[in-house]
Amino acid sequence: MIEVKHLVKTYPARGGILKQKPVQAVKGVSFVLPDAGAVAFIGESGCGKTTIGRILTGLESYDSGEVLYDGVNLTRLPSAERREKLRKVQLIQQDPYAALNPSRTIAKTLMAPLALEAKRQQKSKAWMASRAREVLALVGLNPEVVLPKYPHMLSGGQRQRVVIARALTVEPDVLVADEAVSMIDVSLRLGILSLLLELRNKHGIAILFITHDVAAARYVGQDGRVCVIYQGEVVEEGVTDDLIQSPVHPYSQALLSAVPVLRGLEAPGPDRYIPLGEFQQDEGTACRFAPRCRYAEERCRTEKPRTVPYGNGGHRHRCHFPVARRVVAEPLEVNS
Ligand code: SF4
Repeated sequence: MIEVKHLVKTYPARGGILKQKPVQAVKGVSFVLPDAGAVAFIGESGCGKTTIGRILTGLESYDSGEVLYDGVNLTRLPSAERREKLRKVQLIQQDPYAALNPSRTIAKTLMAPLALEAKRQQKSKAWMASRAREVLALVGLNPEVVLPKYPHMLSGGQRQRVVIARALTVEPDVLVADEAVSMIDVSLRLGILSLLLELRNKHGIAILFITHDVAAARYVGQDGRVCVIYQGEVVEEGVTDDLIQSPVHPYSQALLSAVPVLRGLEAPGPDRYIPLGEFQQDEGTACRFAPRCRYAEERCRTEKPRTVPYGNGGHRHRCHFPVARRVVAEPLEVNS
């Protein structure tokens, strides 16, 4: 289980003529990712969701807060033990084209992490070859066909499956899927989403799914939880279906109301709106969403909302005036 408490990450100011301010990308985020569970982060580009994923995989440091892996704070462990824990948290990157070395065959790509595993577990080369075949079969690829190929000889969907297979070589406990289907042909997305779901359901791998695609978040995060992120803060969090069907924060409602109606003939949701207005970058006493919120009142500009529960189902939000609104016209379909 991964437990994140009050995570804060600030990127320092950039120099040059146009001196920029430091950017606080993550502002006190807390959440729990249970064993074999799923948490989906949804929010617009630049909201901080990728930074959180990179922190969990050890690729990024953080300023304050705690990240606990099975109750252990990794920052307090010696580096060898920290690396060992982090090995079990694997990142699936957005771009399967950039994630694979174009000059290596898939066999060589998989052998690199397998060689480390073999050394660690004192296994033979025959074990490595058999494990490479096993992980490719697990992600739905034919090892005999794929192993001798170079990345450019595969489709986008096959490449992403290879990236997932490479992550599986270390038998991870957690996969952090960062926009894992956004660069894949729409027709191939459902296959990758189904694979992630299967890895979770059949193999007990927890998934942190980072996306701006609400339908995909709902598909992978079924029976799990969704966190809606706005400017580095979780503004609403709840059980996936509950939040998607009855969001109470105006930003979540705007995000969900922007989901395209896929069947083409249905009317848009009853309360669709696209928030305009300026971002509010500065720390202050106002709600960060106030400049773009159509329900903003005077209190929103003078008092920052705190995270409070809504009902009894573990649904939480940051809004002074929460109202459950159904903004999705019909049961959401996966983009496929
Ligand atoms: Fe909108 Fe006010 Fe709620 Fe912020 S606190 S989301 S401005 S209604």
